Amino acid sequence: MHALVTERLRRGKLVYTQGRRQLVELLLDFARPVGVAEMLKKKSRLTQSSMYRNLADLENEGIVRKVSGSDSVLLYELDEELIGHHHHLVCMKCGHVDDFVVPDSTESAIDTALARAAKKSRFTPKGHRLDVLGLCVKCTTAD
Ligand SMILES: [Zn+2]
Ligand SMILES: [Zn+2]
Repeated sequence: MHALVTERLRRGKLVYTQGRRQLVELLLDFARPVGVAEMLKKKSRLTQSSMYRNLADLENEGIVRKVSGSDSVLLYELDEELIGHHHHLVCMKCGHVDDFVVPDSTESAIDTALARAAKKSRFTPKGHRLDVLGLCVKCTTAD
């Protein structure tokens, strides 16, 4: 995992600095898309400006990607090549986003259905992104 990050950074002529490594580890720990504010809360020693700079560098090298939640808040997560293919559960009320994985049989059923639909547009699908919108457990029970 870290070897892959090092390799990708090297391709962009960048070094896997302490700051970048801390960000990658932070994203690994969260195991869901998070915003900068939440990351800063957990790692208060990192400054906001260096965090944004490092996130931009990591994004340019395809290590981190932006995820849009239910509102305009930008969230970040590690690229699927690093953490595996997954989907997002997006709470429409509080904006919380969780990762979730569906069984392989469901994945291939999704791919088959999408390929059939895309064929009408003469489009060749190579993958998919799929978010489930709804209410998280906190927002379901709160009234
Ligand atoms: Zn919620
Ligand atoms: Zn999928």
